[in-house]
Amino acid sequence: MKIGLEVHVGLPTKTKLFCRCKAYATEPNTAICPICTGLPGAKPMLNKKALEISVDISNALNCIIEKETSFVRKVYFYPDLPKSFQITQKDMSVGHSGNLKINNKTVRIRRIQLEEDPAKILREDNYTLIDYNRSGQPLVEIVTEPDINSEEELKLFMNELKSILYYLGADIDQDIKVDLNISLSDSRVEIKNVTGLKNLIDAAKYEVQRQEKLIQTKQQILQETRSYSEAKLSTISSREKESDEEYGFIFEPDLTVYNLENIKPKEPIYTSIIAKDYSKKYGVSELQLLEIILFDKNSLKIIQTFAGKYEMKAILNALLSFKRYSKSEIKEKIIEKAIQLVQKGSYLDAEVVSALEKGEEININSNIVNTDEIDSEIRSIIKKNKQLLEDYKTNKKAMNSVIGMVLKKFKANPRVISERLEYVLSNEFKV
Ligand SMILES: [Zn+2]
Repeated sequence: MKIGLEVHVGLPTKTKLFCRCKAYATEPNTAICPICTGLPGAKPMLNKKALEISVDISNALNCIIEKETSFVRKVYFYPDLPKSFQITQKDMSVGHSGNLKINNKTVRIRRIQLEEDPAKILREDNYTLIDYNRSGQPLVEIVTEPDINSEEELKLFMNELKSILYYLGADIDQDIKVDLNISLSDSRVEIKNVTGLKNLIDAAKYEVQRQEKLIQTKQQILQETRSYSEAKLSTISSREKESDEEYGFIFEPDLTVYNLENIKPKEPIYTSIIAKDYSKKYGVSELQLLEIILFDKNSLKIIQTFAGKYEMKAILNALLSFKRYSKSEIKEKIIEKAIQLVQKGSYLDAEVVSALEKGEEININSNIVNTDEIDSEIRSIIKKNKQLLEDYKTNKKAMNSVIGMVLKKFKANPRVISERLEYVLSNEFKV
């Protein structure tokens, strides 16, 4: 299985790529002008900030950044494109020949290009609406080589990429649109516009199975573009794939050639490397660390601030409790108190977290427990009573007896035991 991706990321700029219209306006057709609606005679002007961010991304993905970059017109006729061409990049894109390491494997990056988004089409039963607010929004397209060979790698790659983009300031809550190229044979099938990690994995899974079936029954796999239907959990043929010739790429004469030499890229942050280093240095779970910092600048800062000063296990423990029970941003002073409590053996439940946030005094003796010992007791009770797990699937109260059994051995707050039970059940027994 070979999977290549084209990942489209919206850039966090105030204005659009080639005009001064607001980049992300919500009320339809309110952020438009002659340039982004393609009126005759209107000339594009490049947004320098967008160019800078595309250099940041190219640098983070270890791309070669040439001295100069320029744009092309990709010509095609469609209602979302009033100019009848999209301004994009091809041979002189901002970055090329890069790579991203995921675990022990390298996914090569073919190209990173800056381009404008077409308008948004909303289809209703009897009519079609077009919102030109999206026309001209700045996008970076990241094109990989077909180096991804499994669903697991697809997941790792997307998480790593999204984390890098997040730390470079991109808004990853916005839909990142991905085109998937999947080939099991010589024919390449492209699945357009998949959003969300779950959909991406489901679409890849379905398409791989579809192609496998065709190969087993000795049928031909067509080179085509398909779309993914979330409702049907399948891919549907949409059109035969255009070749580059059909797009009629030409140099964009309204824009100049831009110098990239003077743009100093932002230092990228690779959370997977940080998680690996810290896990080795402080003996904590790499996966748990990664989950905490993948998309959370604030937590990363707290970990870096307190690493060495407190036990890493206590720092992570306190962060996890705050992430679970608190909705507001974690403050350094408050979390430091929480870390100190954890180091003294206290358990941070919802009540303690709330009291810490309110600045109340905490009587730590009331909540001192050893969660490792409680967890291990819960684990051994469940393992000895296999029927409990079966009963629990249909009756959530089936586990209440476990709390009683643990209480016989430990003097602890039943609420704490109930929380640990929930934790062990979901993390270790996956129920
Ligand atoms: Zn405009």
